[in-house]
Amino acid sequence: MSQQNPFESALVLLRQAAEKMQLEDSVLKILLVPERVIELSLPLKKDSGELEIIRGYRVQYNNWLGPYKGGLRFHPQVDMNEVKALAFWMTIKNAVCNVPFGGGKGGLEIDPKTLSKEELERLTREFAKELAPNVGPEVDVPAPDVNTNGQIMDWFRDEYSKVVGKDSPAVVTGKPVGKGGSLGREEATGMGGFFVLEQLVEKLSLEKPLTVAVQGFGNVGLHIARLLSENGYKVVALSDSKGGVSDLENGFDVREAESNKKEKGSLGESYPDKKITNEELLELPVDILVPAALEGVINKDNAGKIQAKIILEMANGPITAEGDEILNQKEIKVVPDVLANSGGVTVSYFEWYQNMHKEEWSEEDVNKKLKEKMVSSFAEVWGIHEEKNVNFRTAAYILAIQRLLDSRLHVEPVQGDALREESEENFEEPVFNLPAGSN
Ligand code: NAD
Repeated sequence: MSQQNPFESALVLLRQAAEKMQLEDSVLKILLVPERVIELSLPLKKDSGELEIIRGYRVQYNNWLGPYKGGLRFHPQVDMNEVKALAFWMTIKNAVCNVPFGGGKGGLEIDPKTLSKEELERLTREFAKELAPNVGPEVDVPAPDVNTNGQIMDWFRDEYSKVVGKDSPAVVTGKPVGKGGSLGREEATGMGGFFVLEQLVEKLSLEKPLTVAVQGFGNVGLHIARLLSENGYKVVALSDSKGGVSDLENGFDVREAESNKKEKGSLGESYPDKKITNEELLELPVDILVPAALEGVINKDNAGKIQAKIILEMANGPITAEGDEILNQKEIKVVPDVLANSGGVTVSYFEWYQNMHKEEWSEEDVNKKLKEKMVSSFAEVWGIHEEKNVNFRTAAYILAIQRLLDSRLHVEPVQGDALREESEENFEEPVFNLPAGSN
């Protein structure tokens, strides 16, 4: 995997979009740093009685559009740079998909598979207790990410509610249905990516069946692979952390692969004669590549070997800035994470909204609203891509930065009115002059 620092990599993209927009330096300076970082040392009492100290992080990157919002990741590779990058991407993503949230992210440096259920609960509750003064339904709203789930969110909500003295379901999203969770949340990220891909396939007039390789078979990878295989795409490769499998000729029945994996423990064990490595999966001759596991998997070392025509970034940051440059030169169409995987946070917003307004929407309603949001975000990104002749990622960043700037105009009416006029008249080549530190 590339050694490039994920946060530095993320900021390269911000700088590129800022240059295209001729963004005022003072605004760029604000967007280049997180507003607040929290680093914790959490004591975990193991079942054996032994005490272990676990590092915990929460980065609150930017709240111009609303409460900080972003997942909690439990993984041994979690560190401050990774969390900063993820929190920055959430800021951009929430602006792209037009939900009233800022960007945040957090995590624990731990492999939860090494913990018993009781240890995991104790650790999560400790994390929630320590973060309680800095999170809340209108302050910062965590959600699940890699290796976290509805159960973990429910423990978090319960502990937070104890600290503040009242039940506060809207402090987290991604809760189990029946405990304040929204119908449709579990499938939302995969489904959102599917809606975006369908829009792109239509715009490019591509003929199905199109072949797809999906890296990662967790919440995101599984749901998008299922939807693709049921809607005219041929899923020819799948993978999990133990490795991948491929069958370019026949493809896979994804539901069958799912039950085989459950039974045998991994995809490789389920199809021993079709094994490939995760690295090989990325380089297969397919129409569409869907990285849906971890960041940095496509980088300067392997980008030149990618054969896919379209990459749908379902993981956060699966392509480094250096990798991205190579893919651009090869004219591979990359649908950026901040658009492709924004279905998750969109339905998280629906969940938060339902909790705040004590409503319960049907799954049909949730999916319909999700589709509308994804189709409209895609159309806006496509519009900027065509109008400014930039790739999808730059187009998405321009859209996000524009929305962030507009939000500043709302909170500062005197300067804002003048700036709004300027921004509307001169959107082609705007120059923004906002005061530094205006949050
Ligand atoms: P998950 O924990 O449910 O699944 C992760 C999958 O990746 C698993 O199948 C795991 O086996 C696999 N994996 C782990 N290490 C790997 C490696 N080195 N190589 C290949 N595969 C590996 O996580 P998830 O929720 O599906 O998240 C996947 C990605 O999508 C992450 O980047 C996450 O930030 C992003 N994402 C998730 C959501 C969401 O709603 N869950 C929303 C937006 C973005």
